Amino acid sequence: MKSTSRDIRIRNCFSVLRHLIADTPTSRQLLARETDLSVATVSNLVSDLIELGVVVEVGHEDSGGGRPRALLAPNADGGILVGIDVTTTYVQLEVYDLTLAPLLQREDQLDINETTPEQIIGHIDSGMKAVHEQLGGREVLGVGVSLPGQVDVAGGVSVFAPNWNWHDVPFSGLIEERLSLDVPIYLDNSLKTAAVGELWFGDGRGVERLAVVVLGTGVGVGLAVDGKLYRGATNSAGEWGHTTIHSDGRRCRCGRKGCIEAYIGAPGILRRWSEFGGDADVEAQTESMTALAAAWKAGEEAALRTVEDVAGELAVGMANLVNILNPDLVVVIGWVADLLGEALLPELERSLPEHGMEATLKALQLKVNHQPRNMVSLGAAALALEGHLTRINTVGARSRR
Ligand SMILES: [Zn+2]
Repeated sequence: MKSTSRDIRIRNCFSVLRHLIADTPTSRQLLARETDLSVATVSNLVSDLIELGVVVEVGHEDSGGGRPRALLAPNADGGILVGIDVTTTYVQLEVYDLTLAPLLQREDQLDINETTPEQIIGHIDSGMKAVHEQLGGREVLGVGVSLPGQVDVAGGVSVFAPNWNWHDVPFSGLIEERLSLDVPIYLDNSLKTAAVGELWFGDGRGVERLAVVVLGTGVGVGLAVDGKLYRGATNSAGEWGHTTIHSDGRRCRCGRKGCIEAYIGAPGILRRWSEFGGDADVEAQTESMTALAAAWKAGEEAALRTVEDVAGELAVGMANLVNILNPDLVVVIGWVADLLGEALLPELERSLPEHGMEATLKALQLKVNHQPRNMVSLGAAALALEGHLTRINTVGARSRR
């Protein structure tokens, strides 16, 4: 796809708003400095954002002798955004204002038998009813939904969700039908929404080339290139969990052999701990992973060996990733990273140079992040914000006048 002046304007618009949300209130002059754009370009974008109700002027600051500078902030009283994180175990719904401050949060645990699109949408329906009851006066600008598995973004279709055996489910259409919703729905999977969350709200802000490695039951990576989410030709970029690290290795749940997920996904880690004599129960992943982290802290031999082994496999996979992408930043997130990240990081840093090229590691920053907030819901809401900005055609609005 050709990059047009419209794309550039959208990109600049996102960049201005990201900095505005991060460091509010601020001035056009400071925004220009932070985004490397000219004051004229920033002023132009800000005028549009004000006109569209996304940004407001909140006062003035002394500019040291010159004219006082207007201070800008995201419009906290403007429309609201809904981010929904659907997993195989829970449905979490969060509502944010345009500063991306949370206004409402609810989480429904899923029963093991709740696997149909109708059942999942039932939970989304109850969530949206709560939004309507508590925030009924506010305009919903968009709903971002993260689904497990493969997603067709343009069609709003769940192409394949292996754990539920969903094939080509027109999920967005079903939501619209059931909820009689008259707002746009933005569907994607958690790798993509987590990357968008990091770009808007996390360490990825201002980063040009970013990889967000998600460690959980499954593993994968969300990628951003030129400060923008990278989806690939069929929205399948980031299936890093199913890259092969042992050609005749363990069987993976995808059916292939030797995928990295078979070694560093939660079941793979717990299997290794068991093999070294640890007390792991693959049926109770969270409890077992917590026990493994505690055993590692206590210096137990089996846990130390497991962490060393898993960090070694992760280093191989990450070196492959870094050698191809040459990113500025890799952020490791996910519930396994929350529990085991502290243990894995030193070993990972030690092993990475054994596999990664010196040139690709030279500029690399590596972070293991504890997430006080659900980056997937937040990212889904940010995806809705991006959609809103793009849809209302901020971009080009002024040039047409
Ligand atoms: Zn696989």
